Amino acid sequence: MPDAPPFPGPGPVLVVSAHAADFVWRAGGYIALAAQRGPGAHVVCLSYGERGESAALWKRGLSLDEVKAARRAEAEAAAKILGASTTFLDAGDYPLPRSAELLDRLVQEIRRLRPSAVLVHSAADPYNADHPRAAELALEARILAQAEGYDSDLPTIEGVVLFGALFIVVLNLLVDIAYAFIDPRVRYT
Ligand SMILES: [Zn+2]
Repeated sequence: MPDAPPFPGPGPVLVVSAHAADFVWRAGGYIALAAQRGPGAHVVCLSYGERGESAALWKRGLSLDEVKAARRAEAEAAAKILGASTTFLDAGDYPLPRSAELLDRLVQEIRRLRPSAVLVHSAADPYNADHPRAAELALEARILAQAEGYDSDLPTIEGVVLFGALFIVVLNLLVDIAYAFIDPRVRYT
């Protein structure tokens, strides 16, 4: 078992989730670890995953607004269990737009939260274009948030560690580590 949780600084961990459920099964362990034993965690959901990842709700005959509301409620409940706060940008999915407005909203969130680390989706996902697009947006927003001349009422940030390609590869390791911290029944020998 490691001596200390893997956190780069005192600022919260920011998780940028393309759809409302992505953060739960891709980064839940690390979020819980950051929230309960680290600097805190905040999840920004760029969309609710209402069109591409809500098939069961559509099959029940729900409207678009009802699907969004259900996905939001689920994500809020999951984040509460993990101990994270949330922001929902409701930018739409399938496709997630690569818009200047969404990029700016993400920049402002990064400046407001002043995270010490940003977790993003992997840069490639042949099965879902929204995921790498969310990663690309997060990467660019983090750079813009550090630019002195960027148009914002919030102060410039600096020194953010970016965990690129984290969701699939590294987080699996971190989740394994996190279990050892969070669940005392798990022991590593
Ligand atoms: Zn997704």
